[in-house]
Amino acid sequence: MSKGVPYIVAGPCSVESHQQLGAAVEALARERRVNMVRCGAWKPRTRPGGFEGCGEQALQWIEECRGVADAIRHEAGGKRLLFCCEVAMPEHVEKVMSHGIDAVWIGARSTASPFVVQELTEALRGTGLRVMVKNAPSPDVRLWMGAIERCQQVGLDDVWAVHRGFDVFRNDAYRNNPLWEVPIELRRQMPEVPILCDPSHIAGRREPIAALSQTAMDLGFDGLMIETHPHPDEALTDAGQQLTPEALSLLLDGIVLRSTDSVVADEELRLLREQIDHLDSRLLQLLAARFDVSRQIARVKAQGNLAVFQPKRWDAMLRHRIETGQEIGLDERFVKGIFEKIHAESVRVQEEKIGDKQHIE
Ligand code: PEP
Ligand code: MN
Repeated sequence: MSKGVPYIVAGPCSVESHQQLGAAVEALARERRVNMVRCGAWKPRTRPGGFEGCGEQALQWIEECRGVADAIRHEAGGKRLLFCCEVAMPEHVEKVMSHGIDAVWIGARSTASPFVVQELTEALRGTGLRVMVKNAPSPDVRLWMGAIERCQQVGLDDVWAVHRGFDVFRNDAYRNNPLWEVPIELRRQMPEVPILCDPSHIAGRREPIAALSQTAMDLGFDGLMIETHPHPDEALTDAGQQLTPEALSLLLDGIVLRSTDSVVADEELRLLREQIDHLDSRLLQLLAARFDVSRQIARVKAQGNLAVFQPKRWDAMLRHRIETGQEIGLDERFVKGIFEKIHAESVRVQEEKIGDKQHIE
């Protein structure tokens, strides 16, 4: 990895055919900023019945396409293009080894299970492969660290992390919530582990990928993993979020690299401040969501001819918030003060919605 230059992994979500992979590899070999091709041979579908990958046949195609990539890079005097794919079972590791794949990634659903990770790392022991560990779908930094540690414990010494966002109940802005404070905390606890951002699986659609990539660079990520397909709309998996190789080049052109060099103490302070910034931004989003609910409550109260201010409810609510706060170490007066302010604003918002001050007692 060259310092200051993002490490770029790009390629289709799934290997679908020799022709599809060949077209992707050829274009990516010509894009010299790409270091590694990602391509799934076995696809972990959330629900059964979809395309589950071409398995070992895909590995055969990768071997064949590698020759084309080598020739293009050789001619251009560039670095060799490497290839990686996902492994989810010990036999995948065996097959990947017999087809000369350079690196593997452990997918989000596998990282969630320490049993699966343990089995995989036993199979990876001694292979010398680079292993990239995606975060589990839940925002549990310890689970992510645990999978990385299991890799390190079997002697793997080229272990990376990949941030792909965290489950949400319904896709809203993103398919997976980035919760940047989680990878920031991983970096704080494991500063030696390179971290890539996978904005494709965070976004779930093409439009936000460039902005997410820039955020990742601003936060000091080491690189990006971006799904790239010669004909994204025809992709058998994740069609909505894959970019054409041309769109990938434009995205890379647009990325601004800012220096994140600083002494270790400053670096820690910077990472902690970033956590504060992201937590504050979530606080604001939560407040906005809360006042949206207040407006809906105003409508229901107006229909039922109920007063906006309900003293019994307010009293019970405040006591409950103070108790909950105390359980998690928050000062009683502080919690009371905050909720008095929130409640006052909620009353104001409801009044505004109803447009009738008569409802306030
Ligand atoms: C993938 O990278 O294609 C994939 C399945 O990702 P994840 O494990 O992050 O869902
Ligand atoms: Mn995918």
